[in-house]
Amino acid sequence: MRLIFYHKGVSVWSPPNSVVLSVSSIRMKPHVLLDGIEYKHCSNCDTWHPLCNFHFFANSYDKLQAFCFSCNAVIHAGRLKKKIVPI
Ligand SMILES: [Zn+2]
Repeated sequence: MRLIFYHKGVSVWSPPNSVVLSVSSIRMKPHVLLDGIEYKHCSNCDTWHPLCNFHFFANSYDKLQAFCFSCNAVIHAGRLKKKIVPI
C-alpha cells in the first residue's frame, strides 16, 4: 500500500499488490493497475472501481467523473427529491 494522493486532510492509499500509474501533475489522482485491470478511486465512497464504473466527463484529465455510478445515482436521486414540490 502506498499513499498516492492527499488533499484537504483526506489521504488515498493504493490497494495492496497494485501498480500505481504515473500522472503528469500532483493535482491528478493516479489510477492503479490490479491484475491487468485499471482502477480509479471514487472520492465519495472511498472505494476503488474499474474504469467502466465511471461516467464520461470531458473536463477531467482522464475524461471520467470523480464519483462512481452508484454514488452518482444516490446524489441524482437526492436532487430529484428536492425538486418535487407538494401541492
Ligand atoms: Zn463511489
